[in-house]
Amino acid sequence: MYFFEMETNTKTNLLTLDRQGLEDYLESLGEKRFHGRQIHAWIHRRHVTEFEQMTDLSKSLRATLQEHADIPVPRVVEVASGDGPEGATKYLFELADGNRVETVLIPSDDRMTLCVSSQVGCAFGCKFCATAMLGLSRNMTADEILGTYLAVAGGIEGRISNVVFMGMGEPLANTGEVLKTWNMLTDPDGIGLSKRKVTISTVGIPSRIRELADIPNPPKLVFSIGSPYDEVRRRLLPVAGRFSLEENRQALKQYADNTRHRITIALLIAEGMNDSPADARALHKWIGDLPTKINLLRYNEATGDFKRPSEDAVEAVAAELVRLGRTVVLRTSRGRDVAAACGQLAARQLKGTEQ
Ligand code: SF4
Repeated sequence: MYFFEMETNTKTNLLTLDRQGLEDYLESLGEKRFHGRQIHAWIHRRHVTEFEQMTDLSKSLRATLQEHADIPVPRVVEVASGDGPEGATKYLFELADGNRVETVLIPSDDRMTLCVSSQVGCAFGCKFCATAMLGLSRNMTADEILGTYLAVAGGIEGRISNVVFMGMGEPLANTGEVLKTWNMLTDPDGIGLSKRKVTISTVGIPSRIRELADIPNPPKLVFSIGSPYDEVRRRLLPVAGRFSLEENRQALKQYADNTRHRITIALLIAEGMNDSPADARALHKWIGDLPTKINLLRYNEATGDFKRPSEDAVEAVAAELVRLGRTVVLRTSRGRDVAAACGQLAARQLKGTEQ
């Protein structure tokens, strides 16, 4: 059970309360506990965040809630949609303190994936990432992350089937709030996503990976490797100066052994950086007996100092990994047309503000 109450202004933020917390809260208002369950269902199952629309509550209860409580979903500042029925849609949200974060909805044949942010900006400074340019303002709270989910889920046809913590920020630098959000997303009484459908993407903080390894049925994990060589990795990902590939591998091994989950290794390929068959062989060697699948992504030239690799080079890397017996998924750059690399929309907005 999670119960974490917080006040927004003088009103109680209902997004900080789980079902039992809402029952307790309604009781504290002198109301029947079952109204807490009704409100929980409206918010978490039907994605309704306006008291006025909670039609099975009496008018007087709705008025009481308006006076004392709040469901503070963040304001949508901009929506950018990609082409075609499977185009990604990117949302720029403004949080209560004016900070802005991004969320991307990525439909495909068999799933509807929401990519959420976990921090306002990021301190990790990865060279290929637009969010790195923003620096870190602060961590997001669980109710803010949940608010971005609800704002999108309440405005679309169909249901979000998967959530990935792959937007702005390093989720494992904000593990407490990310795991609270994970609890809410997978609460069978609420949103009810399968635990297998929530994924955390990390550039690698071994101690936090080990923490995940100790959780029963934890979120799935994507490890963004950058390069299978420590030296090259340190140039791409400053965090690699603190944690070696070997330290990360040992933590990932513990995660895989404890959870029986297959780990996704994400390799963002840039020209001349990690786009040769020799790089593929080094990656294969580093993975060793870790149960993995490999996602290959092409570098998006809109960010950083590197170049998009040639198709021939990417295919050669993929072919070499397949030849070595690896499972490889060659990702298309979904949403390139809506500036879908994390942080790009916020960075563009920030530039606009500065100008
Ligand atoms: S890739 Fe992730 S960890 Fe690295 S700077 Fe961007 S948001 Fe931060």
